[in-house]
Amino acid sequence: MNDDTPVLEARGLVKRFPVRRTLFGRVTRAVSAVDEVDLRVAAGETLGLIGESGSGKSTAGRLVARLVRPDAGRVALLGREVGDTPADLRWLRTRVQVVLQDPFSSLDPTKTVGHAVAEPLVVHKLGNRSQREELAERMLDRVGLGASYAWRYPAELSGGQRQRVAIARGLVLAPRLLVADEPTSALDLSTRSEILNLLLELQESTGVACLLISHDFATIRHLAHRIAVLYLGKVVEAGPAERLAEDPAHPYTKAMMSAVPVPDPGGQNKRKRIALSGEIPSPIDLPSGCRFSSRCPYATDHCHSTEPEMIDLSSGHRVACHLYDPSTEADRPTTPTAP
Ligand code: SF4
Repeated sequence: MNDDTPVLEARGLVKRFPVRRTLFGRVTRAVSAVDEVDLRVAAGETLGLIGESGSGKSTAGRLVARLVRPDAGRVALLGREVGDTPADLRWLRTRVQVVLQDPFSSLDPTKTVGHAVAEPLVVHKLGNRSQREELAERMLDRVGLGASYAWRYPAELSGGQRQRVAIARGLVLAPRLLVADEPTSALDLSTRSEILNLLLELQESTGVACLLISHDFATIRHLAHRIAVLYLGKVVEAGPAERLAEDPAHPYTKAMMSAVPVPDPGGQNKRKRIALSGEIPSPIDLPSGCRFSSRCPYATDHCHSTEPEMIDLSSGHRVACHLYDPSTEADRPTTPTAP
């Protein structure tokens, strides 16, 4: 692995979940959850994956962590392609850890916090008992709880404290990639910012790469260096976080961003809220052409018939929209103005 090798490189990930089969097991209808998704995360970098509910963002995270097997595509971690052999999966599990939205469901209520944090070390047969206890206590210190919490039970903790335990457990193996799926959406506002700041601080001190999954742009903006926007299983826009926040290109990203409150009241007045109309297509029966065309105020006949390709706008900012494709200029409606 050389210095340029990303921690994660996923190419062409596809996942469909069957909803109907014939008597003989042949799939006749399937939900398209993730369709030809590429992801790349470098060491010390956070890639924010954002989209509405049903956009496929959580499935994409599960594919990367191999909690779900992809139908197509490949995942390389630290330059090594990960297959489905037990050896590959064991190798991956010590290097990729997942933090979920609801820490309570991921913690066994009958086991102490110390046990929960040390469990990944037990599973992977790392260290002896006293070394594992010592490391678990050190991790609890790192996440701001203190070693004394090792003897408590999950039910004795607040939501924020449970999420700190989940993060300690996620980092105890010193993974190279952390997949954080809506890590703060079950928390109240003040606890949310404490957990985001903790993640930021831990990432800066450990250099772990992070795939942060959220429906909330403010959360993503707080941590992410780059952002990928998913709509119905496809990445429709990707690029540096600052660029997407200041100058989003895709009509869907613009609409999503227009709903984010701006702290400066002057700025809020200038930003016009873009309300989307039209039905979200069923992921079982996707429309031809652009998947966003049923809700897009700029859709043309061309959009309804031809799926847009990803186009490079500038310095890593890419968008899948015919509005930016020079070859479709004749069919193009008025270029949208920034919200
Ligand atoms: Fe809208 Fe057409 Fe762009 Fe799709 S390709 S987002 S329908 S303008």
